[in-house]
Amino acid sequence: MSRAYVNPLGLQLAPCTYCGFCEKHGCGNYSKSSPQTTIIPVLMQRPNFALRTNSEVLSIDKAPDGSRASGVTYIDANGDSFFQPAEVVVLCAYPLENTRLLLLSQIGEPYDPQSGEGVVGKNYCYQVMSSATVFYDEEFTNGFVGAGALGMVIDDYNGDNFDHSGLGFIGGGYIACHTTNARPIESHPVPDNVPSWGSRWKKAVRENFLKTTSVGVHGSSMAHRSNYLDLDPTYTDAHGRPLLRMTYDFTLNDRRLTQHLTPVAEQIANGMGGREVKVNIRRGSYDSVPYQTTHNTGGTIMGADPKSSVVNRYCQSWDLPNLFVAGAGLFPQNAGYNPTGTVGALAYWSVDAIINQYLRQPGPLVQP
Ligand SMILES: Cc1cc2nc3c(=O)[nH]c(=O)nc-3n(C[C@H](O)[C@H](O)[C@H](O)COP(=O)(O)OP(=O)(O)OC[C@H]3O[C@@H](n4cnc5c(N)ncnc54)[C@H](O)[C@@H]3O)c2cc1C
Repeated sequence: MSRAYVNPLGLQLAPCTYCGFCEKHGCGNYSKSSPQTTIIPVLMQRPNFALRTNSEVLSIDKAPDGSRASGVTYIDANGDSFFQPAEVVVLCAYPLENTRLLLLSQIGEPYDPQSGEGVVGKNYCYQVMSSATVFYDEEFTNGFVGAGALGMVIDDYNGDNFDHSGLGFIGGGYIACHTTNARPIESHPVPDNVPSWGSRWKKAVRENFLKTTSVGVHGSSMAHRSNYLDLDPTYTDAHGRPLLRMTYDFTLNDRRLTQHLTPVAEQIANGMGGREVKVNIRRGSYDSVPYQTTHNTGGTIMGADPKSSVVNRYCQSWDLPNLFVAGAGLFPQNAGYNPTGTVGALAYWSVDAIINQYLRQPGPLVQP
């Protein structure tokens, strides 16, 4: 928000103060367009709306004949269990938990990587990131201020925007220089040849924290038969239910993509007038420790055929017509873009179909 704004529902958003906490925290200033700022206060006024916080849905329940969802079972903060009947269930618990809830509720055929059959958990994709960090001697970049979305992006190396002849990979990514709030516990870029702890590391953090910036590559990730989600055979949650297991490694396509795009980011970084540039590129197998993106996709993909997808084009389950799924789990591939705009657009698209088609004539909106 560059200035105060009243949204179409009459809710007031304040101008951003660039405090630099928005990317991973709520906005106490009401400048960030999150649901608690832009819509929930209006919904709370409605007599037919209830918000049950500190509650966890454990399963989507089916009618005795298995033809439709009857509602959901959830527990509240006291651990008391409730059944909430529903005419329509919308599953919107993020791609990973959406997939897990479908598997736990035995809705849809689980994906089997051996045979390639089954759909739930299939096409799990991630993204491959790399960056070139620029260190300055005098220039203060002050990465701790700003708003998460401020930056410059070039799209010349995304999708089909460049000639892939002889490159051996498909897809691409955007190349961006933006502020990510430089949270002090997480963000302490130091040049190469600095130890990862101790007084020399602390000195390097002190010298460089205010004087760095980074050019990042945000690469696409294509589905692969061996990358998928299923229920963990060993680990369980507090209720004794299997956790979700992610089986993932970067593919040859991911690796070639990052090897081609990272030198472009490095070239840009070298032109930015710093003292030195440090390149961070993913090598070896996938490792969940370094932050890469929070853009998990797949697991509940949309498609034209129930044999190869979980939901139809209206995000409606092929198995239970009164069950709709939201989120980036719908994406069959992970593009070299951030997902949430498309997630929002698909939510509008799906809700429009629920209101204007499904509620008028409940049943499958697409015949298999
Ligand atoms: C640090 C960070 C930075 C990001 N930056 C960007 C960005 O720059 N651009 C971008 O496009 N995307 C970004 N994302 C991704 C973006 O946040 C997600 O794509 C988006 O929030 C997904 O929306 P969703 O509605 O599918 O899921 P969520 O927003 O995760 O909402 C799911 C909700 O379901 C609830 N829930 C989960 N399980 C259950 C259950 N069993 N019972 C009841 N409720 C449950 C959760 O508490 C949560 O409120 C970022 C994410 C993070 C964490």
